[in-house]
Amino acid sequence: MEKNSPVLEQNEDPTAKERIKIGFSMDTLEEERWLKDRELFKEELEALGVEVEIMIANENAAVQLSQIETMISNGTDLLVVVPYYTETAAAIVEKAHSAGIKVISYDRIIKNANVDLYVSFDNEMVGELQAKAMTNLVPKGKYVYIGGSVTDNNAILLKKGVFNILKPFIDRGDIQVVYDQWTENWTPENAYQNMLAALEANDNQIDAVIAANDGTAGGAIRALEERGLAGTIPVAGQDADLAAIQRIVEGTQTMTVYKPIQQLAKEAAELAVALANGETIETDSKINNGKIEVPSVLLSPIEVNRDNIDETVIQDGFHAKEDVYQE
Ligand code: BGC
Repeated sequence: MEKNSPVLEQNEDPTAKERIKIGFSMDTLEEERWLKDRELFKEELEALGVEVEIMIANENAAVQLSQIETMISNGTDLLVVVPYYTETAAAIVEKAHSAGIKVISYDRIIKNANVDLYVSFDNEMVGELQAKAMTNLVPKGKYVYIGGSVTDNNAILLKKGVFNILKPFIDRGDIQVVYDQWTENWTPENAYQNMLAALEANDNQIDAVIAANDGTAGGAIRALEERGLAGTIPVAGQDADLAAIQRIVEGTQTMTVYKPIQQLAKEAAELAVALANGETIETDSKINNGKIEVPSVLLSPIEVNRDNIDETVIQDGFHAKEDVYQE
């Protein structure tokens, strides 16, 4: 882990207060977005003069908890956590609080715990954007829902958002959800298997696919490709992964939902420093996590389809134009 040199700083100003240290505990780097989160959050914190320690739990709740213990014993002043398993991560908050350290839940909420602050995108809105785009295109027919990992509360919120929009269509009998499964650990391979099962069970007669993120959308599209159906059945995803944007250009994926990670990283970094300095944070929203109303900051996700790639992800520098349009 890179360390800035505290010795030099002390030499410059022996009366200077020790720098704030923030620990960032991440679940995974599997999806492209998390690489951006790691880099941008670190940059934002360092720009605020904070020392950062980052650990990745690789989808293991026990590893995540022991990494948290390490960060606490390394003298972290505040923890920012992307939990692997929403339901058991309360132990992280208890450990931190008993050491007098506050916890910010980053992107994914920690349930049943006294979380100090939650910073994320509006995940229910992500699902709603997906389902609105799909029902505009396919107002009647057979839908497949490829969910996220059930260990992740975001997967539950996404699905809630999707079904908020689908419900009146289902009630009218216009849309039938013929397949609806979680995807273990969000892996493209498991999503591919789910999509194969959905095709098998429905004799390939499917009209639309909503996948919880672009990784799972990629797995579903691979299954469609094998049956010669890619590009004929609309598919929705989320994250604006480069591969997904390329698929939108090529026509095998219909839309994705872009979450500007830069905004999340900046917001989280500023709030983390304020909390670490003992400031009280006022937020507009509160989210119930099963135990308390967690003060929450929820940023807005953005729909991306073929028509607005340039003015969203490219304009923001999320992806380079030459990477998106390859010829
Ligand atoms: C995040 C998504 C991500 C997924 C898999 C969710 O909690 O909100 O952006 O694709 O986890 O890592």
